[in-house]
Amino acid sequence: MDNSPNRTTHLISACLELTNECEVNCPYCLLDCKQQFVSKKRLFQIVDALLEHGVRRFSIGGGEPLCSEDVYSIGIRIKEASSESLLRTSGCRPINLNIIEQAYDLIDISIDSTSAVYYRRCKPNADIKIVLKNIEDILKASFELRCNVLVTKLNYNDIIRSIEHLILLGVKNIRMQQLIHRGLSKAKYEELMISGNAYNTLMEELKHISERAKVHISDLKSTTQRALCIIKPNGLVYIANQFCLEFFGDIFDHATLTKVGEQLYDIQKELYQSKAEFYLP
Ligand code: SF4
Repeated sequence: MDNSPNRTTHLISACLELTNECEVNCPYCLLDCKQQFVSKKRLFQIVDALLEHGVRRFSIGGGEPLCSEDVYSIGIRIKEASSESLLRTSGCRPINLNIIEQAYDLIDISIDSTSAVYYRRCKPNADIKIVLKNIEDILKASFELRCNVLVTKLNYNDIIRSIEHLILLGVKNIRMQQLIHRGLSKAKYEELMISGNAYNTLMEELKHISERAKVHISDLKSTTQRALCIIKPNGLVYIANQFCLEFFGDIFDHATLTKVGEQLYDIQKELYQSKAEFYLP
């Protein structure tokens, strides 16, 4: 680490959770998915505080961000400030493609399976038909899309088939994620987690598929370990690493973002410059 006095340390990338609301009811969800009202004014103040601090990449999620009526206006605010914006969604509600280009650079859809049976195990209250329709429409519009697949015991036996299905549909960017527990999630996750060996075997197989089909299949943990800053809808700021969420303070307390920037700058800068992943989060 460069410790020279002139070293710049600021936050480059941040994940903003627009709302806790979500109807999908995933068995691995750790949120209390009830609606928590956050005014548009407050959300804009949070975004502006991050922009003023120097954040250049925003990942907008939730809960389900499509439940927030501000999902598009927040994206537009970010893009107008020449920052990059990523929408992370389950895709369980129709996406407004007429406005998306003004608001986001990339959409990340969390789809744990393309099979109705396996999908229902992972996301009981979402309709796979709506998700696949969103994917089809996004691809037709030639908009940047990444599909995110969380690997658990619920979908493990269907992963290869689902990935091949996504590739057949035309998806070119897929990110894999292993369910690993953090802090309080231990009891809930233990029965859903697959072993590290099983995950590594799967990733080996996917490497061959990725080379053969010429699609990008990445692994979340190799790019984001210790690099995530999460801002909750109430403005509280956390750093997420592989094991826990570490609380840093309120976004409107001036010292909070500085502390987070000092902690994350080196790793975020390296990822930002390497462009290994278009987005950190
Ligand atoms: S889609 Fe996300 S927020 Fe919604 S229930 Fe699943 S994990 Fe929770």
